[in-house]
Amino acid sequence: MHIRLREYELKLKHAFTISRGSRDKVHNVIVELTEGKHTGLGEATENPYYHIDTGKINTDLLGIEELLKDHYFTTPEKLWQEVAPLLNQNPFALCALDEAAHDLYGKIHQKPLYKLWKLDVSKAPLSNYTLGIDEVDVMIEKMKQTPWPLYKIKLGNEHDLEIIKALRNETDAIFRVDANGGWSADQCIRFSEEFKPLGVEFIEQPLHADARLEEKTEAFKHSKLPLIADESCILEEDVAECKPFFHGVNIKLMKCGGITPALRMVREAKTLGLKVMVGCMTESSVGISAIAQLAPLLDYIDMDGAMLLSNDPAEGVGLSNGKILFSEKAGTGAVLH
Ligand SMILES: [Mg+2]
Repeated sequence: MHIRLREYELKLKHAFTISRGSRDKVHNVIVELTEGKHTGLGEATENPYYHIDTGKINTDLLGIEELLKDHYFTTPEKLWQEVAPLLNQNPFALCALDEAAHDLYGKIHQKPLYKLWKLDVSKAPLSNYTLGIDEVDVMIEKMKQTPWPLYKIKLGNEHDLEIIKALRNETDAIFRVDANGGWSADQCIRFSEEFKPLGVEFIEQPLHADARLEEKTEAFKHSKLPLIADESCILEEDVAECKPFFHGVNIKLMKCGGITPALRMVREAKTLGLKVMVGCMTESSVGISAIAQLAPLLDYIDMDGAMLLSNDPAEGVGLSNGKILFSEKAGTGAVLH
């Protein structure tokens, strides 16, 4: 197999702010993995919270170039088993390679992945559209610019209740909120009581992933809304660890190292009785099209990353008013422009 890496600077339509900080662009690496006449695409993004930059993604993937040249490709799972120990410090790079291997596998077998997995796309949930933290008036304006049945609202500052009340005055859409670890247990409990009558569906990552056990227990015990782990659920072993403190998990391909482990995590979370969500980072249509393949297996999905970009270098699975527009193309359906 032959690997080729392309680096992109993806620009956001609006500066995107969460409780940890703000940004208006992101650097991503798109992987092309070629076997014979087929090429699969995958993507990794830089992410300061997880200490990943494009230099590290490039170096780590080029470090296994020789191994890939000698690899006899049969399935993405077999390739993942071989490369995962070498990329265990860089799940983002592993994710890009695994997405590309899945796309390649679908192309070799001439079917979209969801068809190879025999999934019923009519079972896919709607995707939310994310509103970053901003002045209330700006958040209302952004919401009006993208009328949507389901919004994920980033919170984590002193105006959280004011924001939800103001947005609720403007729409009947379902809200879900994401504090990105910005709250205490007391705040989580109080906001859950205030948000429930305001049509909020769940709270994502209320407390910091390193919050004390007592805080996490307190929030879980008294929250009036379901709590979904994001920063607390990174790798496969985290799913079971989240069970005592959360009602569900937000799995991300980039955090766990690709589609291969994500599918195992979805199965495990379901076995444990947890709600299952898959989320995105700031990704182009390459990464988003890979995520979308899992949608029929999920309770919730957050795959609006490419919609937030002004220079998406690809097209593939899209969204219309929350509904996922699956591609009939083989693999993930992603194509570079
Ligand atoms: Mg989150």
